[in-house]
Amino acid sequence: MQKTSVLLTSLVLGTLVSGCGESGGAGNQQPDSSESPIAIAIHGGAGTITRENMSAEREAQFTAALEQATEAGYEILEAGGDSMDAVIAAIQVMEDNSLFNAGIGAVYTYDGTHELDSSVMEGATMNAGAASGVKTVKSPIHLAREIMDNSRHVMLSADGAAQFAEEQGLELVDNSYFNSEHRYEQLQRALEQLRESEQTGDQIANNKNWDPAFNMGTVGAVALDRDGNLAAGTSTGGMTAKQYGRIGDSPIIGAGTWADNQSCAVSATGHGEYFIRHHVAADICSRVKYKGDDIFAAGDAVIHEVLVDAGGTGGVIILDAEGQIHMPFNTEGMYRASQSSHQPLRIGIYNDEE
Ligand code: ASP
Repeated sequence: MQKTSVLLTSLVLGTLVSGCGESGGAGNQQPDSSESPIAIAIHGGAGTITRENMSAEREAQFTAALEQATEAGYEILEAGGDSMDAVIAAIQVMEDNSLFNAGIGAVYTYDGTHELDSSVMEGATMNAGAASGVKTVKSPIHLAREIMDNSRHVMLSADGAAQFAEEQGLELVDNSYFNSEHRYEQLQRALEQLRESEQTGDQIANNKNWDPAFNMGTVGAVALDRDGNLAAGTSTGGMTAKQYGRIGDSPIIGAGTWADNQSCAVSATGHGEYFIRHHVAADICSRVKYKGDDIFAAGDAVIHEVLVDAGGTGGVIILDAEGQIHMPFNTEGMYRASQSSHQPLRIGIYNDEE
């Protein structure tokens, strides 16, 4: 990690950095009044990410990918572009990279296929779009946006979503386009664990004996543009060996994704069932909107108290309309990066970094 700007973060540092208003230690100081702030934060999944199980090569690959994705979004914001365009650009970089559990590199279902989920939300209008159980749309995040912009509905699923994608002229691919060797190996290990659990009566459903790597690598982004508009998006392959058309939190507006200019924008990653039950993304922003919490208090309460008490693992990226960023998570690591008018590019992986 040679970069001077990289690998700050961690829970503590996230708070410190955020506590500085992302403004280089100037408290919650308002940005230069001549220019409204712009900001982007991204994640590439949370889970058991430790130095012990990470090679230097893999760490460098993640760092490069996170940097590339952040830059793709930030360039758009710098040029005066729209926060939703920035979110889509950042997420598409990660969908196209097999390191992440989204697009290429998505996890496998129990039946050995891929079913992808995605969602977007705009803070100015509170318009939203989501796709679930999609098998043949190359960029699920693009589809979520098309659903928001060009359909009468918020969420489309499975074959209907694919039909809509085709009608909109989106690129379709064979399901095998999303294949990757490392995810296939994960499926084999997951199936083995499931078989063992059937014999012992152990409850995989209750998260026992379930390797967290099996659902790690969901991607998401939140952005603030010069017009003061927030946007959020999330894209994932879900959980390895998922069955029966299982849908996680990522395409659920309010659970995995939320944006409201009056509070904040959030994208989540973690054990989706818990994020759905506790409507994590919307809960954080509701605390900001109705309780008057800042994003640091709201994010910490939901991730470190509500979710921990429930037994849910994962994290979120949060951005407010002043360009303040907070990225709390209750796992060993979360792939994450951010950049704003108040701070240069920062990249983090582990929970102990400064
Ligand atoms: N939240 C995703 C899901 O449950 C997985 C993850 O973010 O790791 O589908």
